[in-house]
Amino acid sequence: MTEPVIDVRNLTRHFGDFIAVNDVSFQVQKGAIFGLLGPNGSGKSTIIRMLCGVLPPTSGMARVLGRDVATHAEEIKRHIGYMSQSFSLYGDLSVIENIHFYGRIYGLTPERLAQRTQDVLELTSLGDRVDQLAGTLSGGWKQRLALACALIHEPQMLFLDEPTAGIDPVARRDLWDLLFQLAGEGVTQLVTTHYMDEAERCSEIGYLHSSRLIVCGPPDELKLLDDVTPAGTRRWELTVEHPTEQLAKLRKNADVIDATFFGDAIHALVRDSLDEEGLKEVTADPTMEVRPIAPSLEDVFVTMTRSQTDHDRRVGSKAIAVQSTVGLSQSVTDAEFPHTQSTVSESEEGSTPQASIPARPLFGLMAILLKEFSHIRRQPSTLVFMLVVPVMQTLIFGYAINTEIEDIPTVVYDLDGRQAARELRDAFQNTRTFRMIDRVTDEESFRRAMTSGEAKVGLRIPPDYSESLLNHEQAQVQVLIDGSDSQVATAALNTTNLLGINLSLRRTRPFVEALPAVPSRNAEGTAAIPIEMRPRLLYNPNLESSHFFVPGLVGIILQLVTLFLTSFAIVRERELGTLEQLFVTPVSRSGLLLGKLVPYAVIGFLEVLIVLAVMVYVFRVPIRGDLIQLLALSLLFLLCGLGLGLLVSTLAKTQLAAIQFAFLIMLPSVLLSGFMFPRSQMPLPIYLVTFAIPVTYFLEILRGVVLRGAGFADLLPHVSGLFLCTLAIFTISLARFRKQLA
Ligand code: ADP
Ligand code: MG
Repeated sequence: MTEPVIDVRNLTRHFGDFIAVNDVSFQVQKGAIFGLLGPNGSGKSTIIRMLCGVLPPTSGMARVLGRDVATHAEEIKRHIGYMSQSFSLYGDLSVIENIHFYGRIYGLTPERLAQRTQDVLELTSLGDRVDQLAGTLSGGWKQRLALACALIHEPQMLFLDEPTAGIDPVARRDLWDLLFQLAGEGVTQLVTTHYMDEAERCSEIGYLHSSRLIVCGPPDELKLLDDVTPAGTRRWELTVEHPTEQLAKLRKNADVIDATFFGDAIHALVRDSLDEEGLKEVTADPTMEVRPIAPSLEDVFVTMTRSQTDHDRRVGSKAIAVQSTVGLSQSVTDAEFPHTQSTVSESEEGSTPQASIPARPLFGLMAILLKEFSHIRRQPSTLVFMLVVPVMQTLIFGYAINTEIEDIPTVVYDLDGRQAARELRDAFQNTRTFRMIDRVTDEESFRRAMTSGEAKVGLRIPPDYSESLLNHEQAQVQVLIDGSDSQVATAALNTTNLLGINLSLRRTRPFVEALPAVPSRNAEGTAAIPIEMRPRLLYNPNLESSHFFVPGLVGIILQLVTLFLTSFAIVRERELGTLEQLFVTPVSRSGLLLGKLVPYAVIGFLEVLIVLAVMVYVFRVPIRGDLIQLLALSLLFLLCGLGLGLLVSTLAKTQLAAIQFAFLIMLPSVLLSGFMFPRSQMPLPIYLVTFAIPVTYFLEILRGVVLRGAGFADLLPHVSGLFLCTLAIFTISLARFRKQLA
């Protein structure tokens, strides 16, 4: 007896407390088209996912092509084709690019790829549309393309999850013709569908209801099952004038077990006690036509579901799967299948060990790489994001965010108006911190200029200013400062105080010179203040804020781009369903990951070069340290950004969630890393948090190398910190990223 292509025994899958697949058993023989039917949510897709090795079973066992799905998933994947429930090819790639991508993923040699491409194009008649973007194909053609991709590696087994959902009847029939052709060539198929006419075409069907397999067998034999038309009952088709009223009447009759519309007619399951004449009496419709009929598949499912539910209610025990004993589905004795429940459930949750085949690291890497670059090429917005945004950001931070405060609008209310007062006004003006915008002549206007926000500083010179100075009395000058912008106010306050001291010193000097003894003298022997501070600005002598912001920007932009692009690249595939499609291929985990990450690493590195170039040539911030060392450390940080992107992609199921997570990571990176505000000024708990932010270390490295010319030894603590962060992030994300759905 040949081993069935699919052998499922007591297969069960839980999602938390919910049982999506409950104790399902069936077999499929080579060359069969096995149809899985059942209402939405009955567990069809879950069964297929388990059979394709992307979802581990909770208990029970399933063998596909003679291999256990729990232990040999990767081996199975090489020999099966899978068309998932939703269209899950790359809409932004052309027909031929999609086909080639899947061919490469399966490791076809170029010659064989060319041959197979020819074959599948011929089979699916897609030859005229090779350059059309997959996203622009109509429903039926999309499914043909999906079939072509699923067939590119000549699988022995094809899983088709609702392949005809949502496509027109003609396309549906054409697709089925293709499936028959494939079955003729010996390709076993497992198809799920909602359509009864499609069920009729299957060589065998299984009907699922509430996670259980209710019946299973060839369609014609299912119709003959005793349970479908129990002894002592018959099925009739009634053609009546007012079917709605008649249906209600029939349903009320105790001898009518079931009645339902069927087109214009009514199909009824009736006890023998009610014969043709009896039916005519019930309906009281003289024109009624009655004829005995065989049950349809729908009848089979309705009756079996009902009797199953009744049975459950009465007995409360597990389902009786009505196994067909004939046809293709031959039972195989248990002895032939030593894999029992216990051996399978051990590897329930974990990854799928590939016991008998050597691991093939990086398998499929090239295919993924080529595809990613095609995506980037097809999506100009990515290019804008990667090229324009960083330059814009650099310019904005470099130019617009200027922390040097000058030209604070100042209003003057001069009540004195004489020479001394004019000198005071000029002294304020000459600091360049203040800019006189108005001179008012009454208290009311002075107040209004301040309250309206027009002026941030108000200078009021009292009427007796000149007199006080002449009489050697202390003159008091009122300076009102709008404190609402603390940075501006601080600058105004400092400048005002300094100005007051300077002016006073200047007035004091002639008197001091005349004294017999002075507090101190400078080198020239003239009287001077006792202590002179001589500050000298290192690294950024002109205190240009661009020197502070622009190097930091390299870090922020690099993280932004790598984080968003990588997390999106993966989450988008998850959301579109293409990731699931990829999981069913033999692509290796490392191949998939590297293929996804490398393109964005390249982009990220380009970004570093762009922003550094803008920094050096536009903002004239020279790199004092070693450029090569800076680039090498940028690579380390790049890795960290990719790891963060990967982490987000393992957390987020949708692109929206990915955006939210990415923002959650970006916010502290911008605000707490020292990019905008000095870390040394932060309260202790927050300061401690900054050590967990990788970009913190990279900013220290950037500013160190660019502004202070720091060498590796100076940077060692920061480099170690960055290295540890990167290591931790990668370890967590790699552990979370599995080639499985759950
Ligand atoms: P079908 O394909 O027959 O419509 P599915 O196999 O997709 O049904 O789903 C069966 C049930 O399992 C549904 O109720 C669905 O909500 C649930 N289910 C499927 N996948 C998951 C999952 N990853 N997590 C939780 N519940 C799930
Ligand atoms: Mg489904």
